[in-house]
Amino acid sequence: MNELALIQRIRALAGAPGARVIEGIGDDCAIYRPRPERDLLFTTDLLIEDTHFRARTHPPDAVGWRALARGLSDVAAMGGEPEFCLLSLALARWTGDRWLERFFRGFLKLARKTRTTLAGGDLTRAARVTCDIVVCGSVPKGKALRRDGARPGDAIYVSGRLGAAALGLKTRRGAAWKKHAYPEPRLAHGLKLRGRATGAIDLSDGLALDLHRLCIASGVSAELDAVPVFHGATIEQALHGGEDYELLYTARKPVPGIRIGVIRRGTPGEVTLAGRVVEPRGWDPFR
Ligand SMILES: [Mg+2]
Repeated sequence: MNELALIQRIRALAGAPGARVIEGIGDDCAIYRPRPERDLLFTTDLLIEDTHFRARTHPPDAVGWRALARGLSDVAAMGGEPEFCLLSLALARWTGDRWLERFFRGFLKLARKTRTTLAGGDLTRAARVTCDIVVCGSVPKGKALRRDGARPGDAIYVSGRLGAAALGLKTRRGAAWKKHAYPEPRLAHGLKLRGRATGAIDLSDGLALDLHRLCIASGVSAELDAVPVFHGATIEQALHGGEDYELLYTARKPVPGIRIGVIRRGTPGEVTLAGRVVEPRGWDPFR
């Protein structure tokens, strides 16, 4: 297929845009009309062959799904609702029409499920498959959950058990593999935390590293008393594995989720588990 044919195919797969996207794929720009009294959230993510996925390990629909899931997870962590997304995709020599079709099927399955309009993007060629995604979300004015609001005495929570993605990547089987390949962004959970959580972040790089980041942003330390481990995963995978895309958050009053510890004044950024310091080690492409 040539570029024009590809764009027409993607446009057909994407279907009609959502209500607030006045103009979707096809013009020079997409047109989005925001609701009044809303703050807009923007996040961008790269998904690159051999850095974030492997052609032989990951089916094309999982690559598409994960490309969008990463951005949606960021919106969930801010207590937001997704509005639209933009996708720039560089295809490698080895990707044929069938790969692309399946990539978009995975991508758009999650987009439809979460009411995220694919409003535009770009296509090109590169040595490796590269997906650059922009997701726009929204929250009522001033209501975004941030990572700098945790205060001493707040309880720490996660939205689910951890380590599944790391376990799944290793075994490539069962529920753990599904959590790795098709992570479900915790958008509904994020909405429940609006006005209740004091700080929030999504677990993209592992509990140890992401909790360290939340603590640095808030100028506090964290004391963990338990880590909820996914069935079959190790504590190492739960602490440092990354890509679980659960939410990690703090609150003064009880909120839905699994309580795992408490925020302390302490050394900013320090995380302890049962009295021992946990290294802020996790998924880091620069290591
Ligand atoms: Mg994030």
